[in-house]
Amino acid sequence: MKIKFVGVGEAFDGNHSNTSLFIEDAGLLIDCGYSSMQSLWRDGTYNKINVIFISHFHADHTFGLPALLMRYREEKRVEPLVIVGARGTEKYVKDITELAYAGYIDKPGFELVFKEIDSESELEINSAILSFAKANHADSSYALRIEHKSKSLVYSGDTSYCAEIAELAKDADILVHEAYASQMEKEAKGLSGHSSFLSCGLCAANSGCKALFLVHIGRNSRDTAAIEEEVRKAYKGALIIPKEGDIVEV
Ligand SMILES: [Zn+2]
Ligand SMILES: [Zn+2]
Repeated sequence: MKIKFVGVGEAFDGNHSNTSLFIEDAGLLIDCGYSSMQSLWRDGTYNKINVIFISHFHADHTFGLPALLMRYREEKRVEPLVIVGARGTEKYVKDITELAYAGYIDKPGFELVFKEIDSESELEINSAILSFAKANHADSSYALRIEHKSKSLVYSGDTSYCAEIAELAKDADILVHEAYASQMEKEAKGLSGHSSFLSCGLCAANSGCKALFLVHIGRNSRDTAAIEEEVRKAYKGALIIPKEGDIVEV
């Protein structure tokens, strides 16, 4: 499985694009925020996308979609595009696209297919199996597991510690987890819908995953040594803080 880190940042980071991953084998884009787009345009990745998973209905995970759909229309895309997300995804995507480019969404020029999922759902797309767990962040928040040719990756989306995600990530090759702040900062600021570095370590340890990748790190909390020290209180496996553009093969 070949994974590209399109973006690794949180919502308002001046140095890092919104967190987004591209799984080349399945043509799957995971999240599509407003600042992920240039990276997708730059190397042509946008033209390899068949499926988009939206982890939840927040702008740093979705507001690139109207621009992406508009570019496909401009370049006369013909292949269908599947968009996967929580119940309400079709209405949400149509609403934001209508606000961005009025009058377009009903005639994109190619087939738009919506698959609305919950934690019981399982989808097979491009010979990959997708399954899901409810995350602790917004009503629309789900984590994703993708299995392809006996390799597996789990993406948490935004969430605080979530036992269901640890279960979803059981023995996964890669767990990509959001890591927003230190445990001290999380408690001081009452960041109830985000993970501390410690809780990422706990989720990784409890899942038995082979490697933990941390993304969506708070813009003022990117102290690699401090992050590693806190994660290591719970998790001893491989720990990676990827950069935008990194490609990983598993
Ligand atoms: Zn969010
Ligand atoms: Zn976010």
